[in-house]
Amino acid sequence: RAAEALALSARTESMARGGGRMPVVMDRAFGATFKDPDGSTFIDLSAGVGVSSVGRCHPKVQKAIVEQSQQLMHAMEVNSTRRTELAARLSALMPEGLRNDCITFFAQSGSDALEAAVKFARRVTGRHQIIAFHGGYHGVWHASNALTTGTAYRKGYGPFMGGVIHAPYPYAYRFPFDTTHKSAEQIAGEYVDYLLNTPYTAADDVAAVIVEPVQGEGGYVPPSPEFLQLLRKACDRSGTLLIVDEVQCGAGRTGRMWAVEHTGVKPDMLTFGKGIGGDVPMAGIAMRSDLAARIPDGSVPNTFAANSLSAAVALTNLEILHDPELGLMPRAELLGQEVQERVRGFQSPYVGEVRGKGLMIGIELVEDKATKEPLAPEKVGRIMEYVLGHGVLMVPCGRYGNVMRVMPSLTISKRLLHRALDVFGEALASL
Ligand code: PMP
Repeated sequence: RAAEALALSARTESMARGGGRMPVVMDRAFGATFKDPDGSTFIDLSAGVGVSSVGRCHPKVQKAIVEQSQQLMHAMEVNSTRRTELAARLSALMPEGLRNDCITFFAQSGSDALEAAVKFARRVTGRHQIIAFHGGYHGVWHASNALTTGTAYRKGYGPFMGGVIHAPYPYAYRFPFDTTHKSAEQIAGEYVDYLLNTPYTAADDVAAVIVEPVQGEGGYVPPSPEFLQLLRKACDRSGTLLIVDEVQCGAGRTGRMWAVEHTGVKPDMLTFGKGIGGDVPMAGIAMRSDLAARIPDGSVPNTFAANSLSAAVALTNLEILHDPELGLMPRAELLGQEVQERVRGFQSPYVGEVRGKGLMIGIELVEDKATKEPLAPEKVGRIMEYVLGHGVLMVPCGRYGNVMRVMPSLTISKRLLHRALDVFGEALASL
């Protein structure tokens, strides 16, 4: 059976992103674990890259799907009860600046949502350029790929949508500029202010700054709140929209519903995806209602957006995330701190930096702590193989593919989480 799983994995390789080369096939799943076709159980430290925040195949979600399937599964030409309910619920849960005063546009995927965000930002501002960040990941279609950096996603696929300017993200561990007198956040924030408010190419012509409040694929980088605060100021000075991409860091992942809430910054738009739909496709944009009023009705049709089944599941996910008895968000904050402390205590020569917020944790592995040379891909591969061989799925990210994520379902038990970390510790020791 293991050979069969491998063959199947090889056949699906071209479809599955990153994980496609891993010799494991998911057959069934529950909570923070899954089984392969042989029935071997794995602890999942990736959760579909943050998709399964409430755990896979949650019984309440299963029930919602069955009940909704008996009532209505899809509506496009007219609104539906679930879609309307979901828009209202999301509006009430938005960060300050959007809360109860936003319009929601639904999409099927994060990439879709970012495509639409660019289009809307241009429509409502009448400007065309966009500022995005090095290390940012916003999707892989025409506009979204233009925002996304990373050679693997870009090489040979361009040219993408024009008008995107990339600025440095405050990735302090590998920041290219001198941080003796100013923090990476200050330098990065001031750079954007300079771009937006100096009469060169960009000034007066930038529709939006699009930023991940905690960078995901770029290596799980949580900047200090000052960065977003500086971006907000720079945007206000130049009449530019601030769009926070919470597709990966949103939905309770960082200990708050939205990562931007750690900063006190009011965004003009917020894109969501992954954890909102959980096991089913669901994404979208929440936009200040005064801005949305400038978008003509009927100019953005989207056949499957907030399909009733997806909307019913999203409503259930939100209910679970906000269940005060479960307290998943404060729990994520506490568990996250516990994980970070534990991994720092490994005292492995390969652990360069442990960082993150809530249960969105990146462990940056290096050959040498002084030079910060990224751990060789072959060694990262050995770690992935080791943990997988011992029943744990860990997926790397980052500019050099050397950042191991701890991104489990927020419902993961402490016991499973620590069991997985035991295995990861052993993998490091085995190098
Ligand atoms: N934005 C962010 C921040 C993401 O992390 C991702 C996916 N990794 C996307 C957008 C694109 O989402 P999708 O894969 O659903 O298109």
